[in-house]
Amino acid sequence: MEATTKIRNVLGLTLASPLIIAGPCSAETEEQVMKTAKSIAALKSVSIFRAGIWKPRTRPGQFEGIGSIGLEWLKRVKKETGLPTAVEIANAKHAEEALKAGIDFLWIGARTTVNPFSVQEIADALRGLDVPVLIKNPVNADLDLWIGGIERIQKAGIKKVGAVHRGFSSADKSQYRNKPMWELPVELKRRMPDIPLICDPSHICGNRDLLFTIAQTAIDLDYEGLMIETHSNPKGALSDANQQVTPAELDDILKKIVVRLSSVEDRKFLSSLEDFRDQIDELDTKLISLLGDRMHVARLIGEYKKKKGVTILQNARWNEIVEKRTKQGTEKLLTIDFVKKIFESIHQESIHHQKMIMENLLTDVKA
Ligand code: PEP
Ligand code: MN
Repeated sequence: MEATTKIRNVLGLTLASPLIIAGPCSAETEEQVMKTAKSIAALKSVSIFRAGIWKPRTRPGQFEGIGSIGLEWLKRVKKETGLPTAVEIANAKHAEEALKAGIDFLWIGARTTVNPFSVQEIADALRGLDVPVLIKNPVNADLDLWIGGIERIQKAGIKKVGAVHRGFSSADKSQYRNKPMWELPVELKRRMPDIPLICDPSHICGNRDLLFTIAQTAIDLDYEGLMIETHSNPKGALSDANQQVTPAELDDILKKIVVRLSSVEDRKFLSSLEDFRDQIDELDTKLISLLGDRMHVARLIGEYKKKKGVTILQNARWNEIVEKRTKQGTEKLLTIDFVKKIFESIHQESIHHQKMIMENLLTDVKA
């Protein structure tokens, strides 16, 4: 991560490169917290250590956080590494305990931002205090609800307020745990240009392999920082094991990120491009799945032809397919050549599958 950006003041910190917040999804043991924090502190590129101690979990019975004892471990992190600390708070009691323990940054989680009563309760507990607060986007794609959460905290007199983009839950299947929907944070930035925007690629991706691309996109969109879940032993983590990285992996990601200077126009362009690419990825996934289904039916036909002793190639049917598909393709603005090529390939593949059926190389075909 090269410091090619302008010097910025983000939430009271003066930085020459994006603000990096790192630490485990959850504080689990004192040893895990200290080990992770010491490795993170050694990287020098991280400015804030995060750890959840009260964890909002989808189902009861999952690890719901270590609770208040974790605050003592975070005090130790600050004392021994010098890193400021951050925790998630979901109600007034959490806010009071975190402040009493000297936690430096507070964040409001996605499941709390959805509820104006909860955000207001937190705002009232923090009224007039000089503590930076980050507000994660609500789980649902509602920009006004996110802005409303930010406004409630601002109205309580809190001056250092930031927004965390952690993606939006969606019924559609996608490669992401939470869809980025870049147009929402970009619109937030347009409407609230003074609110620093931090991207949380961990909760967007749900999978550590995708982190770099999302983190780079956020930096290309001129975000002020990143929050990346980092654990000394990600695979053994008690929450979000698939998306956490080791401190060494975090270092690799951060070193790979290129910080560019981008204009407002660029940011809008890049956000749309990214959303289009997400759509392409989803459509391609559907295409592959449809082709798989089509070949399954071709194999069933192969079984049938084998039983009846008829040839694989049925010329009249093949002619009919070419004619119908090229006509359908033209209606969708596809060139005749392209549709012909595609269907010749598909037909070849069908023949190949049916040949395997005829030659008893594939026998597990069931309707
Ligand atoms: C977290 O940061 O660990 C967390 C629970 O995030 P979110 O509120 O974005 O789900
Ligand atoms: Mn998490």
